[in-house]
Amino acid sequence: MYGYLEGGIKVELSDVLGIREWRQNYQNNLENQFPKNVVVSVKLNIPGEVKNSQVLKKILLDGWMELKSQFEEQNEQLLFLRLILDRITGPEALAVLTGTIMEIKKQAINFEESFKLGRLFDVDVMSKDDKGYQLSRTQLGFEPRKCLVCNNNAKYCVKEQKHSIEEVQMAISSYIKKSEQREEIKFDLSQMAVSALLYEVVTTPKPGLVDPASSGSHQDMDVFTFIESAQALHPYFVAAQKIGNEFLGDNLSQMFNELRRVGVIAEKRMYLATNGINTHKGAIFSLGILVCATAYLQKNETFSRKELANTIIKMVRNLLEDDFQYLKQKPSEQLSAGEIQYLKYKKTGIRGEAVAGYPAVLKVGLPFLQKTTGSLNQRLVDTLMYIAANVSDSNLIKRAGTVEVVDEIKKWSKAYFKKGGSKTVAGINYLKELDQLFIQRNLSLGGSADLLILTVFLGKVEGII
Ligand SMILES: [Zn+2]
Repeated sequence: MYGYLEGGIKVELSDVLGIREWRQNYQNNLENQFPKNVVVSVKLNIPGEVKNSQVLKKILLDGWMELKSQFEEQNEQLLFLRLILDRITGPEALAVLTGTIMEIKKQAINFEESFKLGRLFDVDVMSKDDKGYQLSRTQLGFEPRKCLVCNNNAKYCVKEQKHSIEEVQMAISSYIKKSEQREEIKFDLSQMAVSALLYEVVTTPKPGLVDPASSGSHQDMDVFTFIESAQALHPYFVAAQKIGNEFLGDNLSQMFNELRRVGVIAEKRMYLATNGINTHKGAIFSLGILVCATAYLQKNETFSRKELANTIIKMVRNLLEDDFQYLKQKPSEQLSAGEIQYLKYKKTGIRGEAVAGYPAVLKVGLPFLQKTTGSLNQRLVDTLMYIAANVSDSNLIKRAGTVEVVDEIKKWSKAYFKKGGSKTVAGINYLKELDQLFIQRNLSLGGSADLLILTVFLGKVEGII
């Protein structure tokens, strides 16, 4: 027996017919009792002899809660509800709502289409007042209901008895399993973090940066180096998520200290995977913080951009003093790009970003990404060029050896968007020319690429991409 039917009891045809008659009467009574309102019946389409189980009860309940909140969003009020979960012929709900039958019917179809397990649901809408419920899905502007087995019009498959009960049960079972997997992935921040790293490296073309077509200004690495590096960092992001998930207490700098300890190991893993090349050092620091802070907030169900910024600010509040305090005593060959620039220009780079709660991501990259359209690659290329023009890229400044390059990148980005950006041939050609110029001058947008990674990660968390 399929997992979703486990623990269920076989029903007789007479049970099904008996309940059908009961439901019909119940609905008629509700229509008479609430003649100005809309009666809604919510059931599951479960073929075969077993029609109820723990799994199916939970599916109906989850679905009903979702449908109810959709009605509430439209200010439709629930006047009556009867939830029957334990009946052997299947769990069901009967409800009476305010609102027009047309609106309720549209919302019901929308629910069947959009809810994660909506295709198992059968939502009937009726009213004494109005016979509009007889309008079909197509008449209301929706596609006909699709068959779970073959994706054709379900009505046709039912009428022609195209599939055996076993076939349909197998399709339902795999539909439920896929939905469970999607839920898991949805909450797996470590997987989103690795995806963000990989999305960045395959985005093309990017001036001076590594992509599948070119190594840009980085002769010592290519797209494969980045794939190895991203894979090697997966355990780190799992650990970062766990730290955020499990941290108790208010002293968030303690949570950050825990993260930094695993960050040290992550750097070692990265260098091992890349034969000593720095591919993702910046991302280890910043993406680790984002994963950890997001997990911390999701656990408390308080995730928002504002809360994320606040949490990060609390996590890293001692960072600048801790990290920059002893810089002057540090031998110059041991200084990182960020540290040199702090000493030279008082630019605090990615540490300054972290201390301010990543405004370059939350106020620049992410709002821009949200507005972009087109293919994923087009959206990411545009977002990169927008970020590059609107933040100070410490990697670019280091390679150029002068802050004047900041004005140049603003000019280049402006010219790119003037040509129509990633959606025009002129825009893409311009980017390719820029890539050549970057290679000649040994420039790269490494800092902006790191910010793109962070933007992509949060875009995934928020479901923007
Ligand atoms: Zn079919």
